[in-house]
Amino acid sequence: MSVLVTGCTGFIAQHIVHDLLEQNYKVIGTVRSEEKGDKLKSQFHNNPLLVTEVVKDIAVSHAFDALFEKHGKEIKVVLHTASPFHFKTTEYEKDLLIPAIHGTKSVLESIKKYGAQTVERVVITSSIAAVKDTSKFAEKDFVYTEDSWNPVTWEGSQINPQDAYRGSKKFAEKAAWDFLDENKNTVKFKMTTVNPALIFGPQTFAANITESLNTSAEVINAFLHSGPETDVSGLKNDFVDVRDVSRAHLLAFQKDEAIGQRLGLSSGQFNAKDLADILNRKFPQLQGTLPKCAGEGAYQTNPYARFDISKTKKILGFELKTLEETVCDTAAQILKAEGKL
Ligand code: NDP
Repeated sequence: MSVLVTGCTGFIAQHIVHDLLEQNYKVIGTVRSEEKGDKLKSQFHNNPLLVTEVVKDIAVSHAFDALFEKHGKEIKVVLHTASPFHFKTTEYEKDLLIPAIHGTKSVLESIKKYGAQTVERVVITSSIAAVKDTSKFAEKDFVYTEDSWNPVTWEGSQINPQDAYRGSKKFAEKAAWDFLDENKNTVKFKMTTVNPALIFGPQTFAANITESLNTSAEVINAFLHSGPETDVSGLKNDFVDVRDVSRAHLLAFQKDEAIGQRLGLSSGQFNAKDLADILNRKFPQLQGTLPKCAGEGAYQTNPYARFDISKTKKILGFELKTLEETVCDTAAQILKAEGKL
C-alpha cells in the first residue's frame, strides 16, 4: 500500500514525507518537475520507499489522472497538501483561487475514476484561514471552533491577496466536503481536513534555508533580519509548529476518531513582542538587532478571538509545541545557516 502526498516539495509536506518514511510507509509524492523530484529524493538519501511523479500544475483539469492510471491500485491514502500559499499576486483567481479549488476537485475526481474502491482515507490540508472570521479578530471574548467557517464570499476574495487566500482555502475545503457528500455512494474513502494556524518550525533539511523562505517560516526569517526600528505592531496571530502539523496529518488517517472531522491546530497566540522576548533571551547575540517592539499598547499581549480546538486535542491526544520551542528551533536553523550560531 502507498500514501500519495501532493506537493511534496512544500514546507509541511517534506515533514510529512519524512514522518511517513520513518513509519515505513511507501510514499508517492507529486512534484512540479523532474529536477525537484530528484533533489528531494537525494535529500531523503534515495530511500527506495519514496517515488516522485511530476504533476506540473494542479490547476489544469485531470491533473492527477496519469498518476492514478499508473499507481491507482496501490494508493490507499491520499494527503492533499499542494496549494498556493503566498500573497505575491494581483491575479487572485488565476494564482490562488483556481489552483486551490481545481487542485482539490481534480485529485478527488481521479480517486473516483481510478481508486473509488481502493483509496480508503483522504486528508486535505485546509487552514485556519478557512475557519476564522477576521472581522472578529479583536473581539477577545469571541470563540471559534472546528465547526466555524470564514464569511468570505467569492466577490470578497477579489480584493486583496490575503482575502483571496482565505477564499481559496474556504472554497477548496467546501468543494471537498461537497464532493464527498455527492459521491458517498460511489467512493469508499473517509475524509478528514487539517486546519492549522500560521506554521513555524524548522525546514526538514537545513540545506533548504535560503534568503527568503516559504510564506509562514518567512515571518520569523524577516523578523530576524528587520532591524530595531521596524514597526512590527501588526504582527499577531495563532501559531503551530510544523512537526505537530505533520504528526496530525498522519494521525488524521490512522485514527478512526478523525473520520469526518476538521482538525483545528493552534498552539495559541503570539505577538511581535513575544517573538522579540524569546529571541533576545535565547540568542543574546541578537540583542539590539531585533525590532524594539516599544510603544503604547501595541505590543502588549492582548488576548483576541480564540480558536478553541478542544475537540481536536481529544482526537489527536498529544501536546502541541510551545511558542518558545518552535521559534527557537526556527531561528537556530536560520542563524546556523548564516554562520551566526
Ligand atoms: P509551500 O509553499 O511550502 O508548499 C506548497 C506546495 O504546493 C509546494 O510543493 C508547491 O510546489 C505546491 N503547489 C503550489 N501551487 C501548485 C500548483 N499550481 N501546481 C502544483 N503544485 C503546486 O506551502 P506550505 O507547505 O506552507 O503549505 C502547504 C499547505 O498547507 C497549503 O495547502 C497551505 O494552504 C496550507 N497551510 C499552510 C500554513 C502555513 O502557515 N504554512 C497554515 C495553514 C495551512 P512548488 O514549491 O514547486 O511551487
